[in-house]
Amino acid sequence: MDIFYDVPLARLNTFRMKVQAACLVEYDTAEELGGIPEDLPKPWKALGGGSNLLFTGDFPGTLLHSRIRFIQPVEMQEYVLVRVGSGACWDDLCAWAADHGLWGIENLSHIPGEVGAAAVQNIGAYGVEAADVVDTVECYDLVERRFCRFSAAECGYGYRTSRFKEEWKDRYIVTAVGIRLAKEYSPKLDYGNVRTAAIRRFGAYEVETGSLTPSRVRETVIGIRREKLPEPEELGSAGSFFRNPIVPREQYWQVLRKAGEEGLGEVPHYDAGELVKIPAAWLIEKCGWKGRREGNAGVYDRQALVLVNATGQAAPGEILSLEEKIKASVLDRFGIRLTPEVEHI
Ligand SMILES: Cc1cc2nc3c(=O)[nH]c(=O)nc-3n(C[C@H](O)[C@H](O)[C@H](O)COP(=O)(O)OP(=O)(O)OC[C@H]3O[C@@H](n4cnc5c(N)ncnc54)[C@H](O)[C@@H]3O)c2cc1C
Repeated sequence: MDIFYDVPLARLNTFRMKVQAACLVEYDTAEELGGIPEDLPKPWKALGGGSNLLFTGDFPGTLLHSRIRFIQPVEMQEYVLVRVGSGACWDDLCAWAADHGLWGIENLSHIPGEVGAAAVQNIGAYGVEAADVVDTVECYDLVERRFCRFSAAECGYGYRTSRFKEEWKDRYIVTAVGIRLAKEYSPKLDYGNVRTAAIRRFGAYEVETGSLTPSRVRETVIGIRREKLPEPEELGSAGSFFRNPIVPREQYWQVLRKAGEEGLGEVPHYDAGELVKIPAAWLIEKCGWKGRREGNAGVYDRQALVLVNATGQAAPGEILSLEEKIKASVLDRFGIRLTPEVEHI
């Protein structure tokens, strides 16, 4: 275990905010968590790859970062249960699964961050989410200072959320995650343009006759992602900045009316029971923000849902100010209140 003080965080968050943490602990085993000195600055908070965070200023407490990086497969009859250390890079796990011909997480390829956070966030993409494959989550309880383990059902997974993000917030440090991967041929191609992109890449015959592999689906997904999302190494961001609003049907009709009056074209939407989900990217784009710059901050020119550190020099205040302006204009134009997906610290 290493303990560092006054740690610059620019390289530890993908938004590249130049702030500091009073203390950072990097631990190599779950057991080391039990030995963290009580007197380290509070609050204590887990840090993964820093890819879903906006540091709004210096962090006064202690960040706990896992360097537990093992991948241990256990063969079962129909599937493979893989126990993975929380500090393993999520995409390394996706690559490992694809290399071993195992299905389940190929659609989640290339999502930044670490395995521990994936189980906290319930990451998702292209019709698959972590909850589909998580079997168990091993944790260290910072309140009772003891080890515990939760089944996926106990984690209370929902859309991009779990109990770790709600009533258990910042209480449990994930040390390892059990992931169930399938041996049986089971590509999921029906979300968005995955099938079309796979056909473009490998041909209709291969795709429709069952000749895909997890590696081929992974390659397809990475190709799609590269076309529309910034690479964190090249342009600072935290991915989708806002949640997609889920609104009452009357509010959706209002948006529809407005779109008709102002010639905004079709309003993309997905039914969510009585409610309707409208892509935040569409709302932001129709308010004229896509590709716009405000000082050192900006809105990505290929995906309006992503706010970026356009010059690498943006201060937290510049991202926050851009966030407020976007929220105000979407509220003013469509009457919809956007909420951030990215956690503000
Ligand atoms: C370019 C880009 C694209 C993205 N695309 C997607 C996408 O397609 N789908 C998607 O779902 N997300 C996406 N994201 C968001 C992000 O990658 C995920 O939320 C990811 O799981 C965050 O992992 P992290 O390790 O960086 O966690 P961090 O950002 O460091 O932390 C996120 C939260 O998890 C907690 N946490 C971290 N590690 C632990 C641990 N060991 N124990 C307990 N709590 C912990 C932190 O305290 C914090 O609350 C994207 C981000 C970027 C920058």
